[in-house]
Amino acid sequence: MKPIKKRLLTPGPTMVPERVLEALSRPTLYHRSPEFKSVFLETRERLKKLLRTEGEVLILTSSGTGAMEAAVSNLFNPGDSAVVVVGGKFGQRWEELCRAYGVEPVKVEVEWGKAVDVDSVRKAVEENPGVKGVLVQICETSTGTVHDVKAIGEVLKDHSDVLLVADGITAYGVYDIPTDDWGIDVAITGSQKALMTPPGLAVISLNEKAQERLCEGRSYYFNLSKELKNQRKGQTAYTTATNLVVALNEALKMIEEEGLEEVARRHFVLAEATRAGVKALGLSLFSESPANGVTAVVSPEGVNGQEVVRIAREEFGVTIAGGQEHLKGKIFRLSHMGYVDIFDVLTGLEVTELALRKLGYSGFKFGDSVSAALEVYRKLEGQVEVD
Ligand SMILES: *Cc1c(COP(=O)(O)O)cnc(C)c1O
Repeated sequence: MKPIKKRLLTPGPTMVPERVLEALSRPTLYHRSPEFKSVFLETRERLKKLLRTEGEVLILTSSGTGAMEAAVSNLFNPGDSAVVVVGGKFGQRWEELCRAYGVEPVKVEVEWGKAVDVDSVRKAVEENPGVKGVLVQICETSTGTVHDVKAIGEVLKDHSDVLLVADGITAYGVYDIPTDDWGIDVAITGSQKALMTPPGLAVISLNEKAQERLCEGRSYYFNLSKELKNQRKGQTAYTTATNLVVALNEALKMIEEEGLEEVARRHFVLAEATRAGVKALGLSLFSESPANGVTAVVSPEGVNGQEVVRIAREEFGVTIAGGQEHLKGKIFRLSHMGYVDIFDVLTGLEVTELALRKLGYSGFKFGDSVSAALEVYRKLEGQVEVD
């Protein structure tokens, strides 16, 4: 049977709701029109609510990495140093961006799959007086790990000259994160993960401390001072992706309608269901601190994770993600962030079973993962009677 339906269960891009696709297909607006200006301002307000910040929120026309680059190039000067938490592919990106802009990275290396030890961040800051920032992921998507950024924020309360820059691209819209309360000075996210919108927009928030640190002239396109001046008035320095902004506004409306707390709870339930499903197959989670947006699964002995991904896609129409760098073939990742419900989780698990069996792994009975996931779902949701 050839797959007739395609399902996207990767940690970005993610599935886009019908409502958002409809918004995306509306006639393109002129970026200087009053009509667009009002949508743009509305979207910025919704983003402030999502991030729970009183700071400024800027929308950039790029993938998420653009906002990471903008943070490094606009908040740090050549010769500055910054602590970077490197526990996966995206932590490495912080390090590479620092090097690209002449910022000295003070690395806190974390074994991939582990959460950063907050004391090692404290030490790095204390042993390197003059560091200007701490750059971290809230969720390190490559390993499916959540770091305790709230605790890092606590540590930095004693270091008012250090900016906390948090890449929350797979955290905002998965967890309910009070950016200001956690002491995050700069938060970053993107359209194509939990925000249920196609790729193309990045988001960066700047509290007052971060705004005071903005430096000029390090990047022509990503000039945050210029953007700030424009975006306060509902304008962007250059042409933004107007259709995507309209779509993002619709997606944020959906998040508001569901409620941030409820959105976070849904992600928790789906993550717990996925984790239980995976364990029921005799497999283990790659992360010791598993995130609620994506689950990284260790491929069983003798099974190449890339093959699981290939079979899922080619034979069943379900796109999941493999491992990156040295984890290629060793893990595969099931995403459950954004426009996802329990039935998507069950699909991902069953397709995993089918692919694993085709690859010769037989440590389970068909349906084991689905039963375990449903059991968790019924318990946590309490809507369905549990025997
Ligand atoms: C997806 C992602 C990014 C951004 O990647 P882009 O491909 O540039 O959108 C950055 N950090 C994390 C943690 C991510 O998951």
